[in-house]
Amino acid sequence: MITENKTVKKTIALIAHDNKKPEIVEWAKANSEILKGYNLCGTGTTAKLISEATGLNVKGFLSGPYGGDQQIGAKVAEGEIDAVIFFWDPLQMQPHDPDIKALLRICVVYNVPIATNQATADCIIK
Ligand code: PGA
Repeated sequence: MITENKTVKKTIALIAHDNKKPEIVEWAKANSEILKGYNLCGTGTTAKLISEATGLNVKGFLSGPYGGDQQIGAKVAEGEIDAVIFFWDPLQMQPHDPDIKALLRICVVYNVPIATNQATADCIIK
C-alpha cells in the first residue's frame, strides 16, 4: 500500500489497453478524490481520457505502442514512479508486447507495485 505524503507527493502511472480504457476511466472517476493527492502520469491516450473525464492533471507520455510503456519503465528505473496501475488486456495481442513485458519486469526489479487489474489497483490506493 502506498501512502499519501503531505510534503512530497508520490507519483502513480496509469496505463490501459484499448478494451480496458473505459474501465480505467471509471476507476479513476470513482477514486478521483484519492488520486488528487498524487502526481499522475500515463501513456498518451490513457492520460488524455482520464484527464478529460476527471479534470485531474495527468502528464501524458507517448502512446503505449509508440514507446510510452518504455518511457514509464525508464521513470520506474530512475525511482520517479511509486506505483503503476496497468489495466492490460489479456484477450488481445498487442503489437508492443515486448515493451509491456519489459515494464512488468522493471517494476519487479525495482519492487514498485504494479496493479494489473481493478482489485489490485484498489488495494494499492486504499
Ligand atoms: P495509450 O497506450 O494509453 O496511449 O493507448 C496504452 C498502451 O497500449 O500501452
